[in-house]
Amino acid sequence: MNLVTEAAIREHAALSTRRRVGRRHQSASKVVAIIGAGFSGTMAAIHLRHALPPDHAVVLFDRTGRFARGPAYAASDAPHLLNVRSVNMSALPDDPGHFERWLGSLAAPAPGETQVTEAGTFASRRLYGRYLRALLYEEMTLSGGRVRLCSDDVLGLAPAEGGWRVACASGREVVAAAVVIANGNLPSSRPCDGIVFHDPWAAGATSGLRPGEPVLIVGTGLTMVDLALAMHGHGFQGPIIALSRRGLVPQLHAAPGPAPDRKSTRLNSSH
Ligand SMILES: Cc1cc2nc3c(=O)[nH]c(=O)nc-3n(C[C@H](O)[C@H](O)[C@H](O)COP(=O)(O)OP(=O)(O)OC[C@H]3O[C@@H](n4cnc5c(N)ncnc54)[C@H](O)[C@@H]3O)c2cc1C
Repeated sequence: MNLVTEAAIREHAALSTRRRVGRRHQSASKVVAIIGAGFSGTMAAIHLRHALPPDHAVVLFDRTGRFARGPAYAASDAPHLLNVRSVNMSALPDDPGHFERWLGSLAAPAPGETQVTEAGTFASRRLYGRYLRALLYEEMTLSGGRVRLCSDDVLGLAPAEGGWRVACASGREVVAAAVVIANGNLPSSRPCDGIVFHDPWAAGATSGLRPGEPVLIVGTGLTMVDLALAMHGHGFQGPIIALSRRGLVPQLHAAPGPAPDRKSTRLNSSH
């Protein structure tokens, strides 16, 4: 009769636990969840689709039901411009001309969607949102269902076997091997009383204003310019007062000069 020692039993238990853990990892979820489908979440989905093994899926959540936009590139009723030249707005770092080529491939962008200036061409933010959506939908088509969209508000994450349990407002739960949190800036927690808007992008912040009554904007940066343009777009003719601590306004983009000579910009050192 073979004697089974206690040490052998412990070793056997440890081995089967290791095997169970191994199996658990093998059968772990092959889903990566991304919370937030603004620029960061959208591009994470696209890059992960290429980086992950072919049997893995990416689920992209957004609570607004709008994908590949976020507040910056949302559809708006004013053609607010990107603050970066279109030549520098490719979403693909390995293909710097990608956005420019996409712009060139459009039949004819609506008037105001691109502005050609001495400093370069600037596209509207909502047009850039269209670009991001085109990239995402192309990726979804190519992925054969490996990139999925989920219109839901993610309320919480909890550790689960093989990863994380993603709990949504609708009651939906998804177990994911990994989670990317790309939820952008948190909105202001201060309530809006219909007069003071803490979120300048809130619906109603620039429309339905009482004609002729002054509007105060706190800050004189690019958001101030966008808001003033939006108010004018809504037909507001009254005074707009912009308040600044330092009295500065955004600088114009200078026309791009030639690339600096690498030798002359080298730090003055003995090397
Ligand atoms: C008005 C504005 C103009 C800008 N203009 C420019 C520009 O011209 N050029 C430039 O380079 N950058 C610009 N930016 C900066 C821009 O915000 C960033 O470049 C980038 O878009 C930020 O993307 P993000 O994905 O990190 O966040 P966001 O775009 O904020 O996206 C976060 C997403 O997460 C979702 N979300 C949040 N919480 C949850 C949750 N719990 N469950 C599900 N979904 C959730 C939100 O609905 C949102 O869609 C601008 C920003 C703003 C606000």
